[in-house]
Amino acid sequence: MKFGGHVSIAGGLDRAIERGQKITADCIQIFVTPPQRWLKANHSDEAVAKFLDAKASSGIGPILLHGLYLINLGSADDALRQRSVDALVSQLGWSDRLGAMGVCFHVGSFGSEEREIGLARAAEGIADILTRADGTSPLLLETTAGAGNSIGGRFEDLAELIERLARSPRLQVCLDTCHIFAAGYPCLTTAELDATLGEFDRLIGLDRLTALHLNDSKGAFGSHKDRHENIGDGQIGLDGFRAIVNHPKLKGLPSFLEVPGIDGEGPDEENLRRLRELVSDEKRPAV
Ligand SMILES: [Zn+2]
Ligand SMILES: [Zn+2]
Repeated sequence: MKFGGHVSIAGGLDRAIERGQKITADCIQIFVTPPQRWLKANHSDEAVAKFLDAKASSGIGPILLHGLYLINLGSADDALRQRSVDALVSQLGWSDRLGAMGVCFHVGSFGSEEREIGLARAAEGIADILTRADGTSPLLLETTAGAGNSIGGRFEDLAELIERLARSPRLQVCLDTCHIFAAGYPCLTTAELDATLGEFDRLIGLDRLTALHLNDSKGAFGSHKDRHENIGDGQIGLDGFRAIVNHPKLKGLPSFLEVPGIDGEGPDEENLRRLRELVSDEKRPAV
Protein backbone atom coordinates (compact mmCIF):
# COMPACT_ATOMS: atom_id res chain seq x y z
CA MET A 1 0.00 0.00 0.00
CA LYS A 2 1.19 3.50 -0.75
CA PHE A 3 0.85 5.81 2.24
CA GLY A 4 0.35 9.54 1.86
CA GLY A 5 -1.84 12.38 2.94
CA HIS A 6 -3.64 15.58 2.16
CA VAL A 7 -1.23 18.53 1.95
CA SER A 8 -1.66 22.26 1.32
CA ILE A 9 -0.68 24.07 -1.89
CA ALA A 10 -0.21 27.39 -0.04
CA GLY A 11 2.68 29.28 -1.64
CA GLY A 12 2.39 27.42 -4.94
CA LEU A 13 1.47 24.03 -6.36
CA ASP A 14 5.02 22.70 -6.09
CA ARG A 15 5.04 23.42 -2.35
CA ALA A 16 2.59 20.53 -1.98
CA ILE A 17 5.25 18.12 -3.24
CA GLU A 18 7.74 19.61 -0.77
CA ARG A 19 5.25 19.19 2.05
CA GLY A 20 4.62 15.61 0.98
CA GLN A 21 8.35 14.86 1.08
CA LYS A 22 8.63 16.47 4.50
CA ILE A 23 6.10 14.07 6.00
CA THR A 24 7.56 11.09 4.04
CA ALA A 25 4.40 10.65 1.94
CA ASP A 26 4.46 8.22 -1.00
CA CYS A 27 1.47 9.99 -2.56
CA ILE A 28 -0.49 13.20 -1.88
CA GLN A 29 -3.98 14.64 -2.12
CA ILE A 30 -4.49 18.37 -2.76
CA PHE A 31 -7.18 20.98 -3.31
CA VAL A 32 -6.44 23.09 -6.41
CA THR A 33 -8.52 25.93 -4.90
CA PRO A 34 -9.59 26.73 -1.31
CA PRO A 35 -12.34 24.18 -0.61
CA GLN A 36 -14.72 26.56 1.18
CA ARG A 37 -15.11 29.04 -1.68
CA TRP A 38 -16.38 28.97 -5.25
CA LEU A 39 -13.13 29.94 -6.90
CA LYS A 40 -11.79 28.63 -10.16
CA ALA A 41 -8.20 27.45 -9.95
CA ASN A 42 -5.89 29.86 -11.70
CA HIS A 43 -2.38 28.45 -11.67
CA SER A 44 0.07 29.72 -14.29
CA ASP A 45 1.78 27.48 -16.83
CA GLU A 46 4.98 28.15 -14.95
CA ALA A 47 3.45 26.94 -11.65
CA VAL A 48 2.18 23.80 -13.37
CA ALA A 49 5.61 23.12 -14.88
CA LYS A 50 7.27 23.57 -11.48
CA PHE A 51 4.77 21.18 -9.95
CA LEU A 52 5.36 18.55 -12.62
CA ASP A 53 9.14 18.87 -12.23
CA ALA A 54 8.95 18.56 -8.46
CA LYS A 55 6.61 15.57 -8.80
CA ALA A 56 8.94 13.80 -11.22
CA SER A 57 12.10 14.38 -9.21
CA SER A 58 10.46 13.45 -5.88
CA GLY A 59 8.88 10.24 -7.17
CA ILE A 60 5.70 11.19 -5.27
CA GLY A 61 2.53 9.79 -6.77
CA PRO A 62 -0.21 9.27 -7.48
CA ILE A 63 -1.67 12.73 -6.93
CA LEU A 64 -5.35 12.86 -6.02
CA LEU A 65 -7.40 16.06 -6.24
CA HIS A 66 -10.21 16.65 -3.76
CA GLY A 67 -13.29 18.60 -4.83
CA LEU A 68 -14.69 21.62 -3.00
CA TYR A 69 -16.64 20.99 0.21
CA LEU A 70 -19.48 23.15 -1.16
CA ILE A 71 -20.36 20.71 -3.92
CA ASN A 72 -23.85 19.24 -3.79
CA LEU A 73 -25.10 17.42 -6.87
CA GLY A 74 -28.16 16.08 -5.05
CA SER A 75 -29.57 19.46 -4.05
CA ALA A 76 -32.94 20.81 -5.15
CA ASP A 77 -31.25 24.21 -5.61
CA ASP A 78 -30.58 24.52 -9.36
CA ALA A 79 -27.96 27.26 -8.96
CA LEU A 80 -26.02 25.26 -6.38
CA ARG A 81 -26.14 22.17 -8.56
CA GLN A 82 -24.94 24.14 -11.58
CA ARG A 83 -22.03 25.64 -9.62
CA SER A 84 -21.12 22.15 -8.44
CA VAL A 85 -21.10 20.85 -12.02
CA ASP A 86 -18.96 23.79 -13.19
CA ALA A 87 -16.49 23.30 -10.32
CA LEU A 88 -16.04 19.59 -11.03
CA VAL A 89 -15.63 20.17 -14.78
CA SER A 90 -12.85 22.66 -13.98
CA GLN A 91 -11.21 20.31 -11.47
CA LEU A 92 -11.21 17.38 -13.88
CA GLY A 93 -9.36 19.64 -16.31
CA TRP A 94 -6.80 20.37 -13.57
CA SER A 95 -6.45 16.68 -12.86
CA ASP A 96 -5.50 16.12 -16.52
CA ARG A 97 -3.07 19.03 -16.47
CA LEU A 98 -1.37 17.94 -13.27
CA GLY A 99 -1.19 14.28 -14.24
CA ALA A 100 -3.37 13.41 -11.24
CA MET A 101 -5.33 10.17 -10.83
CA GLY A 102 -8.67 11.97 -10.69
CA VAL A 103 -10.96 14.12 -8.56
CA CYS A 104 -12.46 12.73 -5.38
CA PHE A 105 -15.61 14.39 -4.03
CA HIS A 106 -18.64 13.97 -1.80
CA VAL A 107 -21.66 13.70 -4.09
CA GLY A 108 -23.91 15.72 -1.79
CA SER A 109 -27.21 15.33 -0.03
CA PHE A 110 -30.82 15.02 -1.11
CA GLY A 111 -31.94 16.96 1.98
CA SER A 112 -35.61 16.58 2.80
CA GLU A 113 -36.51 15.11 -0.57
CA GLU A 114 -36.89 11.55 -1.77
CA ARG A 115 -33.70 9.57 -2.15
CA GLU A 116 -34.62 8.64 -5.72
CA ILE A 117 -35.06 12.27 -6.72
CA GLY A 118 -31.70 13.20 -5.19
CA LEU A 119 -29.94 10.31 -6.91
CA ALA A 120 -31.55 11.15 -10.26
CA ARG A 121 -30.39 14.77 -9.94
CA ALA A 122 -26.87 13.72 -8.98
CA ALA A 123 -26.70 11.30 -11.91
CA GLU A 124 -27.83 14.05 -14.28
CA GLY A 125 -25.14 16.36 -12.90
CA ILE A 126 -22.41 13.75 -13.25
CA ALA A 127 -23.49 12.97 -16.82
CA ASP A 128 -23.18 16.66 -17.59
CA ILE A 129 -19.72 16.83 -15.97
CA LEU A 130 -18.38 13.83 -17.88
CA THR A 131 -19.66 15.23 -21.18
CA ARG A 132 -18.17 18.66 -20.61
CA ALA A 133 -14.84 17.48 -19.15
CA ASP A 134 -13.48 15.96 -22.30
CA GLY A 135 -10.18 14.73 -20.85
CA THR A 136 -9.57 11.33 -19.36
CA SER A 137 -9.47 11.93 -15.60
CA PRO A 138 -12.02 9.97 -13.61
CA LEU A 139 -14.35 11.15 -10.86
CA LEU A 140 -13.95 9.30 -7.58
CA LEU A 141 -17.23 9.17 -5.66
CA GLU A 142 -16.46 9.11 -1.94
CA THR A 143 -18.20 6.92 0.61
CA THR A 144 -19.70 9.14 3.34
CA ALA A 145 -20.69 8.71 6.98
CA GLY A 146 -24.32 8.95 5.89
CA ALA A 147 -25.33 11.92 8.03
CA GLY A 148 -28.35 14.06 7.04
CA ASN A 149 -29.38 12.14 3.94
CA SER A 150 -25.95 12.42 2.37
CA ILE A 151 -25.41 10.34 -0.74
CA GLY A 152 -22.77 7.64 -0.25
CA GLY A 153 -23.54 6.50 3.29
CA ARG A 154 -24.69 3.22 1.73
CA PHE A 155 -22.81 1.43 -1.04
CA GLU A 156 -26.23 1.12 -2.73
CA ASP A 157 -26.24 4.90 -3.35
CA LEU A 158 -22.98 4.80 -5.28
CA ALA A 159 -23.98 1.59 -7.07
CA GLU A 160 -27.22 3.18 -8.21
CA LEU A 161 -25.43 6.30 -9.47
CA ILE A 162 -22.95 4.19 -11.44
CA GLU A 163 -25.83 2.16 -12.85
CA ARG A 164 -27.73 5.30 -13.88
CA LEU A 165 -24.57 6.49 -15.65
CA ALA A 166 -24.42 3.34 -17.76
CA ARG A 167 -21.43 2.08 -15.76
CA SER A 168 -19.11 4.76 -17.15
CA PRO A 169 -15.47 3.71 -16.84
CA ARG A 170 -14.70 7.27 -15.65
CA LEU A 171 -16.51 6.60 -12.35
CA GLN A 172 -14.40 5.23 -9.54
CA VAL A 173 -14.76 5.13 -5.76
CA CYS A 174 -12.65 6.40 -2.87
CA LEU A 175 -13.35 4.54 0.37
CA ASP A 176 -12.86 6.48 3.60
CA THR A 177 -12.31 4.27 6.67
CA CYS A 178 -13.74 6.82 9.12
CA HIS A 179 -16.82 7.25 6.96
CA ILE A 180 -17.63 3.57 6.41
CA PHE A 181 -17.06 2.83 10.11
CA ALA A 182 -19.37 5.69 11.14
CA ALA A 183 -21.85 4.59 8.47
CA GLY A 184 -22.04 1.18 10.16
CA TYR A 185 -19.91 -1.05 7.94
CA PRO A 186 -17.87 -3.47 10.09
CA CYS A 187 -14.17 -3.07 9.19
CA LEU A 188 -12.03 -3.82 12.23
CA THR A 189 -10.91 -7.39 11.51
CA THR A 190 -9.97 -9.32 8.39
CA ALA A 191 -13.24 -11.26 8.59
CA GLU A 192 -15.29 -8.07 8.95
CA LEU A 193 -13.43 -6.51 6.01
CA ASP A 194 -14.02 -9.65 3.95
CA ALA A 195 -17.77 -9.20 4.48
CA THR A 196 -17.82 -5.43 3.90
CA LEU A 197 -15.58 -5.56 0.83
CA GLY A 198 -17.62 -8.51 -0.42
CA GLU A 199 -20.71 -6.33 -0.25
CA PHE A 200 -18.83 -3.50 -1.99
CA ASP A 201 -17.79 -5.91 -4.72
CA ARG A 202 -21.32 -7.27 -5.16
CA LEU A 203 -22.89 -3.80 -5.42
CA ILE A 204 -20.19 -1.63 -7.01
CA GLY A 205 -17.33 -3.88 -8.07
CA LEU A 206 -13.91 -3.78 -6.43
CA ASP A 207 -12.34 -2.86 -9.78
CA ARG A 208 -13.79 0.64 -9.23
CA LEU A 209 -12.12 1.03 -5.83
CA THR A 210 -8.98 3.02 -6.68
CA ALA A 211 -8.14 5.05 -3.55
CA LEU A 212 -8.48 4.98 0.22
CA HIS A 213 -8.77 7.72 2.80
CA LEU A 214 -7.23 6.31 5.98
CA ASN A 215 -8.69 8.17 8.95
CA ASP A 216 -9.48 6.96 12.45
CA SER A 217 -12.93 7.89 13.77
CA LYS A 218 -13.85 10.03 16.78
CA GLY A 219 -17.47 8.95 16.36
CA ALA A 220 -18.73 5.52 17.39
CA PHE A 221 -19.56 2.69 15.00
CA GLY A 222 -22.78 3.48 13.15
CA SER A 223 -22.96 7.00 14.68
CA HIS A 224 -23.00 8.69 11.22
CA LYS A 225 -20.58 11.26 12.66
CA ASP A 226 -17.91 12.42 10.18
CA ARG A 227 -15.15 13.28 12.66
CA HIS A 228 -11.62 12.23 11.78
CA GLU A 229 -9.05 11.18 14.39
CA ASN A 230 -5.33 10.41 14.25
CA ILE A 231 -4.44 6.81 13.41
CA GLY A 232 -4.78 4.60 16.48
CA ASP A 233 -6.33 7.30 18.68
CA GLY A 234 -9.94 6.74 17.66
CA GLN A 235 -12.60 4.05 17.60
CA ILE A 236 -10.96 2.09 14.76
CA GLY A 237 -7.65 1.81 16.63
CA LEU A 238 -4.32 0.26 15.67
CA ASP A 239 -5.72 -3.28 15.49
CA GLY A 240 -8.39 -2.12 13.06
CA PHE A 241 -5.81 -0.41 10.87
CA ARG A 242 -3.56 -3.48 11.00
CA ALA A 243 -6.41 -5.47 9.41
CA ILE A 244 -7.07 -2.68 6.88
CA VAL A 245 -3.50 -2.06 5.63
CA ASN A 246 -2.79 -5.79 5.30
CA HIS A 247 -6.05 -6.81 3.63
CA PRO A 248 -5.23 -8.48 0.29
CA LYS A 249 -8.00 -6.56 -1.53
CA LEU A 250 -6.70 -3.19 -0.30
CA LYS A 251 -2.94 -3.67 -0.24
CA GLY A 252 -2.30 -2.42 -3.78
CA LEU A 253 -4.16 0.91 -3.34
CA PRO A 254 -2.84 4.41 -2.72
CA SER A 255 -4.02 5.72 0.65
CA PHE A 256 -4.34 9.29 1.84
CA LEU A 257 -4.55 10.57 5.42
CA GLU A 258 -7.00 13.36 6.27
CA VAL A 259 -6.29 13.35 10.01
CA PRO A 260 -6.04 16.28 12.44
CA GLY A 261 -2.32 15.54 13.02
CA ILE A 262 -0.44 15.14 16.31
CA ASP A 263 0.25 18.91 16.44
CA GLY A 264 -3.08 19.83 14.86
CA GLU A 265 -1.48 20.64 11.52
CA GLY A 266 -2.93 17.84 9.44
CA PRO A 267 -1.39 14.64 8.12
CA ASP A 268 2.14 14.19 9.46
CA GLU A 269 5.10 11.84 9.63
CA GLU A 270 3.95 10.28 12.91
CA ASN A 271 0.59 9.16 11.48
CA LEU A 272 2.37 7.69 8.45
CA ARG A 273 4.86 5.93 10.74
CA ARG A 274 2.00 4.37 12.71
CA LEU A 275 0.44 3.00 9.52
CA ARG A 276 3.70 1.67 8.07
CA GLU A 277 4.55 -0.07 11.32
CA LEU A 278 1.37 -2.12 11.00
CA VAL A 279 2.29 -3.59 7.63
CA SER A 280 3.19 -7.25 7.97
CA ASP A 281 6.54 -8.09 6.48
CA GLU A 282 5.80 -11.02 4.18
CA LYS A 283 9.46 -11.91 3.86
CA ARG A 284 9.81 -12.46 7.58
CA PRO A 285 8.77 -15.99 8.59
CA ALA A 286 5.87 -16.08 11.01
CA VAL A 287 6.87 -16.92 14.59
ZN1 LIG B 1 -12.26 11.43 3.04
ZN1 LIG C 1 -14.71 12.91 6.44
